[in-house]
Amino acid sequence: MSERLSLSAAVAPKHQEFIIGHATLIQGPFLETISNGAVHVRENRIVAVGPTSTIKAKAPEAAFFDASSFIMIPGLFNAHTHVAMGFFRGLGHCKENMIETVLFPAEKSLSPDILQPLSYSYIYDGLRAGVTSFVDHYYFSFGVARAFETFGVRGWIGETVADLGGAFPGRESWNRAKELIESSSFGPLISHLIAPHAADTVSVELLKECADYARENKIPLHMHLSQTPGERERVKNRDHLSPVAKAAKAGALSESSLVVHLTSADSDDLKIVKDSGSTVGYCPTSTLFYDRLARIEEFYELGIPLAIGSDCAASNDSADILSELKIAELLARDHHVPNDHLSPDHLLAMATTIPAKVLGRQNDLGTIEPGKLADLVLLKRSLISEPLDQPLANVIYSMGSRDVSHVMVNGNWALWNREIPDWDESQLLADYREAVNDIRGRIQTKAR
Ligand SMILES: [Zn+2]
Repeated sequence: MSERLSLSAAVAPKHQEFIIGHATLIQGPFLETISNGAVHVRENRIVAVGPTSTIKAKAPEAAFFDASSFIMIPGLFNAHTHVAMGFFRGLGHCKENMIETVLFPAEKSLSPDILQPLSYSYIYDGLRAGVTSFVDHYYFSFGVARAFETFGVRGWIGETVADLGGAFPGRESWNRAKELIESSSFGPLISHLIAPHAADTVSVELLKECADYARENKIPLHMHLSQTPGERERVKNRDHLSPVAKAAKAGALSESSLVVHLTSADSDDLKIVKDSGSTVGYCPTSTLFYDRLARIEEFYELGIPLAIGSDCAASNDSADILSELKIAELLARDHHVPNDHLSPDHLLAMATTIPAKVLGRQNDLGTIEPGKLADLVLLKRSLISEPLDQPLANVIYSMGSRDVSHVMVNGNWALWNREIPDWDESQLLADYREAVNDIRGRIQTKAR
């Protein structure tokens, strides 16, 4: 007989092999939802998925979690974050040219020692919404990586590179980025990105170096692109190109490129993006907050892959990616995007299979299928979720992060009954508060 395990136990059990069964199992976008489904996990991989009776019969000795009151979905991606920017929460509202007037001056006070605790809040925010994979872009990313490891979630870290602007302009940023990739050793949850800041803050020469390095080392490239009208104007004046044309000229657009925002891109730019095979990091709340929405109708018309992101706490105080999916859907309807682009499956793809693909991890992540890594999210069913005719529609439209109760990353529980299993949350909060007070104190001292 197998050991029966309760998902409401006080302590998260640790097993090398187990089955989570009797769940409403949403395998992934455009895949079948199994009403009484089970997933069999061995170490960190999924070995089988199917009806509970079939999966149990194949592995009768495996420990068994009864998930009959849960909906299971694949672990979600947040395709664009700056998780250490939690200290900007509430400060970005109603600020003109916020990036240049608020962010860059404040970020000059950052130092490597406080990056890890500064990242705790936004990571926890995302984890509570079912995010298992964070695609980040920031300074002193070593500390960000350590914060991801603290929570046991996946992190793609990209050390921000800029020689013409930003908080620390200069070629040293590129040296720092290469050193991080070449000399640091992280566990299996951490992956690297090449992260030029933006088209106006990086010279075409440095952007080309970044793109060449990314291609030669098979590392995805992650950059802001055509984020604001100001960026467009600065690039036009300096390089006599649009930001997108500059990125294309430097070789920075490819199937391994995640380019974020495109708010000030025109139709010609979007055709360049489409032809390059790049994926757009789409952060609807953040772009509205900074400026305005991109030409989203054209994203959909051209069939440009969209990966959903929340961006940072200065432009989106929350990292709730399930809310972001709902917002994306509503905005698309307002922009007359046809219904056949807006199913719950299309939305889920923006947070699963599309980001997994641009990061080159489509064989490991994005769906609940045999052979993939065990990144799973359980949402507790309740009065809110009934009736359950279309479970995925319920997850996105009527449920949401408040119903996320358990999150598994790489076969381990990163969230158990809405709590972090291996850490005292009050200690993480104390460390975070201390780091926020530290950075805010430094900012005020500099401003005097
Ligand atoms: Zn950003």
